[in-house]
Amino acid sequence: MDNISDAMQRYMDQHQLNHNYQELMQRVYQDADVQAFIKANDADLDEQQIDRSSAKLYEYVTERDRLAAGQQTFAPGYEPKLIMNNHLIDVAYLPTEAQIAKQKQQSLHKRVNSVLMPKLIRKASFDHFDASDKDRVPALMAALDFTDAYVAAPKDYHQGLYFYGSFGVGKTYLLGAIANRLAEKGFKSTLVHFPSFAVEMKNAIGNNQVAEKLDAIKKAHVLMIDDIGADAMSAWVRDEVLGVILEYRMQSELTTFFSSNFSMDQLEKEHLQVTQKGDVEPLKAKRLMQRFHFLAKEIEMIGQNRRPN
Ligand code: ADP
Ligand code: MG
Repeated sequence: MDNISDAMQRYMDQHQLNHNYQELMQRVYQDADVQAFIKANDADLDEQQIDRSSAKLYEYVTERDRLAAGQQTFAPGYEPKLIMNNHLIDVAYLPTEAQIAKQKQQSLHKRVNSVLMPKLIRKASFDHFDASDKDRVPALMAALDFTDAYVAAPKDYHQGLYFYGSFGVGKTYLLGAIANRLAEKGFKSTLVHFPSFAVEMKNAIGNNQVAEKLDAIKKAHVLMIDDIGADAMSAWVRDEVLGVILEYRMQSELTTFFSSNFSMDQLEKEHLQVTQKGDVEPLKAKRLMQRFHFLAKEIEMIGQNRRPN
């Protein structure tokens, strides 16, 4: 951090501020923090050394006051601290509490890979989960039980959860809360909005990216498939996208979550069995349902619609 002191010295020389300098320094030497620091390091500092450190003391007081006033500082996110360095006074810059929290938040977000998901999941957390709506408590308890079990034995296979219930009860929010709790504990997860992903996959056919895009999802450590059944599914999406993902995850015993507006039974009868074209394929649907049942435990989520509009 030499730049500030050097620059200040040059500025003062250029502008012949030397008599103002005395005044300025008087304020600096009288500063309570500065006095406390000099007192604490009394044994190591003589008059001459304090004098030679004047630019550093000035830098410290100026930056500290700017930070307190919410003004632009030399190193945003960092706060100045006086230290002893090679028998002279120096200024060290330490991350502020806000900066530490921000960095922590950023590394948490990195562990949650969200694919085409609404932004709300970033803020989702168990701590802010409104459980005043008693109907939602069973889903919350199941989610908490899962995270406890997962964190206690991350190498074991843990069956995921299949949350279903009407629009706006907080299914997506709850998936986000689980992902964020896992991130806090150091585990990665991937959340994917299934209807949007299906569209992306169809577009990927043209440029031969189906396998690559599918791989990233199917191999995710913990996968959360959001809003399954929200859109009519083509036979191709059902068999080549959903079917492939579920088959892989079952064979590899990888934790998988779902959210849907429909129970597993409804999903089977109304969405998987009948394709967009109207073909009825009960055997294919049954086979897929076996995968669902293996991967996730069905939990109904009841409650009021919490969407703002
Ligand atoms: P669903 O996926 O069941 O349709 P969402 O998870 O999208 O519902 O939730 C609907 C709205 O309610 C969102 O705006 C979300 O932020 C809010 N919400 C849901 N659950 C909670 C909660 N536990 N605490 C605070 N807000 C919530
Ligand atoms: Mg949702």
